[in-house]
Amino acid sequence: MEGVANLIATYEIDQQRLWQTLMELGEIGSTPGKPEEGVTRISLSLEDLKARKYTIDVMKEAGLKVRVDAIGNIIGRLEGTDSSAPVVMTGSHIDTVIRGGKFDGALGVLGAIEAVRTIQEAGIELVHPIEVVSFTDEEGVRFGSGYFGSKAMVGGVNKEMFGFTDETGITLADALKKAELNPNEYMSVVRNPEEIKAYVEMHIEQGKVLEDQQLAVGIVTDIQGPVWMEVEFEGNPDHAGATPMNMRNDAGLSMAELMLEVEKISINNQGVGTVGKASLEPGAVNIIPGNALLTIDLRHVDKRYRSNMVKEVKQAILNICRKRKMKANIEVKKEVDPATCSEEIIEVIQQSCKELHVPTMKMQCGAGHDSLMMTKVTKMGMIFVRSKGGVSHNPKEWTDKEDCAIGTQVLLNTLMKLAK
Ligand SMILES: [Zn+2]
Repeated sequence: MEGVANLIATYEIDQQRLWQTLMELGEIGSTPGKPEEGVTRISLSLEDLKARKYTIDVMKEAGLKVRVDAIGNIIGRLEGTDSSAPVVMTGSHIDTVIRGGKFDGALGVLGAIEAVRTIQEAGIELVHPIEVVSFTDEEGVRFGSGYFGSKAMVGGVNKEMFGFTDETGITLADALKKAELNPNEYMSVVRNPEEIKAYVEMHIEQGKVLEDQQLAVGIVTDIQGPVWMEVEFEGNPDHAGATPMNMRNDAGLSMAELMLEVEKISINNQGVGTVGKASLEPGAVNIIPGNALLTIDLRHVDKRYRSNMVKEVKQAILNICRKRKMKANIEVKKEVDPATCSEEIIEVIQQSCKELHVPTMKMQCGAGHDSLMMTKVTKMGMIFVRSKGGVSHNPKEWTDKEDCAIGTQVLLNTLMKLAK
C-alpha cells in the first residue's frame, strides 16, 4: 500500500490531526462501548447540533472565518489575495443516516478543513478565496428530502419543503427555528453562479471498485442521478384454497414479475435498478395478496438512457396489469438529474495525483451527493477515497487512516491549483 510518507508533497497535510478530528466527530452520535451501533446524527437532531458546534470549532482553529447561513450551511472561508475573485468551494455533509458510519460526509468536510488549514499555516498566498462548506441535511433521512443545504444554495428549494414533517410531526421549518436558524430567509442562501469558480467534493466511494483495483483514490467522471418510483398493484385478496390458479388476481405475482423486469431493463440499458422495499397485503399465509407495494430506484449517468429505463418500466407495469388483470398506481417520488464532472477539474485532480505519485483511475459515481446540486451553478469535480468492503451507511463503514490522508493530500493540491 502507498504510504503517505512516500508522497511527493510540497505542503503536507497533517495525517494525525485529520484522523483525530475524524474520530472525535465520529464520537458524536455514537454510544460509548457499542461500536456495533454506529453513528446516528440525523439532521438538526441534538447530535447533529453538537456535531455542528464541533465542526465550527475545528474551522475556527484552522484559521477560517466562519458563518452559518439562514438554513444552517456552515461556511468556513480562507481569504485570497483578491477577495472579489470567485470562490473555490469544497465540502460535504456531517449528518448521517440511522446507524451510519464515521466517514460518509465527514471525510469531505474534515479533510477539506485540514487541507485549507495546511494552506493557511504555510502562509501560502492564493488569489481566490476558498470556502469549506458543511451542507445541511444531505441524507434526507428525517424530512424525506435530501441535499437540502446544497439545493437551497443553488436556488432549488421552495416554500412547501419547509412544511415537510418528521416522524413526530415536527416541520422542517420548526426544526430549523429550534436550531436558531431562519427558514424564512431561505432565499438569502442562494449563491450567484458568478461568485463560485469551482466545487470539489471528496467522499468515500461507498462501493468496492477502488478496493478491487487496490487504489486509494479515484476521480469521478459522472454521477448517476436516481429516479425513485413507488408502484402499487391492486388485485383481489381471495382465499388461497378456494380460488383456482386461473381465477386469481394475485398482486404478489405481479410484483415478482415486475422485480425481474426491473433487473432485465437495467441490464439492457447498462444502468442500475433496485427494488429495495416491498410489501404484500393483507399479508396472511392463506390469502392471495390483494395489494402489493414496491419501490423502484433507477439510475444511469446518461439522462436519455435513464428516461428510457423509466419508460420501459412503466410499459412493463402496463403489460403486467393487462396480463394479470390488475390495477396499478405509479408515483414518481424523486427525480434527480445525472451529472457530468468538469473536464477541467478532472484534469486538475489527475495532475495532482500525478505529482504526488498517487496511482488513480477514473470512475463513475453511483450514489448521490451535494455535488449533484452544486453542478447546477459551477464546475464540479469529485475525489473518491477507498471504502473497506464497499460498505457505507452502516456501522462497519471504514476508510483507512492512510487513505483518508492520501485523499486529503490530493484535495489540497487540487485546491491550490484551482485557487492560484
Ligand atoms: Zn455522503
